[in-house]
Amino acid sequence: MRPPRGTTGGTTGEIPDGQALADRFRNAFGHAPEGIWSAPGRVNLIGEHTDYNDGFVLPFAIDRSTRVAVRRRQDRRVRVLSTFDSSTPVSADTSGLRPDDVSGWSAYPLGVVWSMLQAGVDVPGMDMLFDSNVPVGAGLSSSAAIECAAAVAVNELAGAALSSSELVLIGQRAENDVVGAPTGIMDQSASLLGAAGSAVFLDCQSQHAELVPLDLAGTGLVAQIIDTKVSHSHATGGYADRRASCERGAAELGLSSLRGLPPSGLAQAEGVLDEETFRRVRHVVTENERVQRTCQVLATQGPSAIGELLDASHLSMRDDFEISCPELDLAVDVARNLGAIGARMTGGGFGGSAIALTPVDRVDAVHDAVVDAFGHASFEVPDLFTVQPAEGARRVS
Ligand code: ADP
Ligand code: MG
Repeated sequence: MRPPRGTTGGTTGEIPDGQALADRFRNAFGHAPEGIWSAPGRVNLIGEHTDYNDGFVLPFAIDRSTRVAVRRRQDRRVRVLSTFDSSTPVSADTSGLRPDDVSGWSAYPLGVVWSMLQAGVDVPGMDMLFDSNVPVGAGLSSSAAIECAAAVAVNELAGAALSSSELVLIGQRAENDVVGAPTGIMDQSASLLGAAGSAVFLDCQSQHAELVPLDLAGTGLVAQIIDTKVSHSHATGGYADRRASCERGAAELGLSSLRGLPPSGLAQAEGVLDEETFRRVRHVVTENERVQRTCQVLATQGPSAIGELLDASHLSMRDDFEISCPELDLAVDVARNLGAIGARMTGGGFGGSAIALTPVDRVDAVHDAVVDAFGHASFEVPDLFTVQPAEGARRVS
């Protein structure tokens, strides 16, 4: 039977099997790898702009991943190579590695090596070849996938025995201090802790993580990702502006973070805050509620009952937080009209991707209608593909 459109597509194609990656490794480095490790990308099911407000998020690891083939070396050199940029390996010495010395894509894996060294791990010299089928820059966290693949490989080959929660912080530190992106722990938590048929509920205040059942396949649903191809790079200002609004709102309410404001406190907050800040605050407070409610509904009724929560999340981001854009709104509307049970933009906003929970037999219809609607609106051709909740980072051979 022909798979639904978009099931195997996406921008980066298929991940090669282990043998093909091992062969490429041998061609590049002249010897066979010791093993292959894998770490998935992630998508956020619900809980947007709640992380830096000490709130709740609910991402899941997806069935698209980054793999790394590795062999230890006798010296202290780490050579990293990616099939994305297969010219020559980037090389660094573990004894003198400094954040300022690395740039470009190699900052992700070498950042993990640096972070491990900072944690006191005796990192051996290594040759590493990365390959990935996680689309880059589509909001599926190819960055966490490459960091976490590197982290689990180095953890094992260095005999460091760091726990998954410790590896989350290793990856975050690489991204914050070496890549220079001020991100939280959501992406690495999903990639390292995810499990098939589950989402990862994360309390960003306590950093407590818990698996929540998300058996989409058993319910006849898939997560359909609609990459609008709208770049969110110009959105840096918007992101910083929203963060500032949240901080201002919390300060004016006498709180250290918006986590401290329960929904019952919103009426009083409305009298204290200016109209725009109040709407920003209302998004965060109601979004935290929706994440918790989604977890309850998933546990008691299953995924087919969470559609309204996803829809409400989108409206809150569109109207209160104002981080959507015409392409995301169109994607969400068309997906819902064609049979998705719920849909919302996912990620930081101002572009990027939407997620729709779509019955398997409606995937093609949603795909075609979204592509048509984007054509009529003279938007760029979107990329649609489906993902399922999948296993977290691990050794694969
Ligand atoms: P996202 O995480 O949303 O995909 P980011 O901008 O955070 O987008 O991270 C993307 C960057 O991560 C890429 O530009 C590249 O530098 C790096 N990257 C991710 N996967 C790979 C890979 N397999 N090989 C080389 N670099 C990668
Ligand atoms: Mg990223």
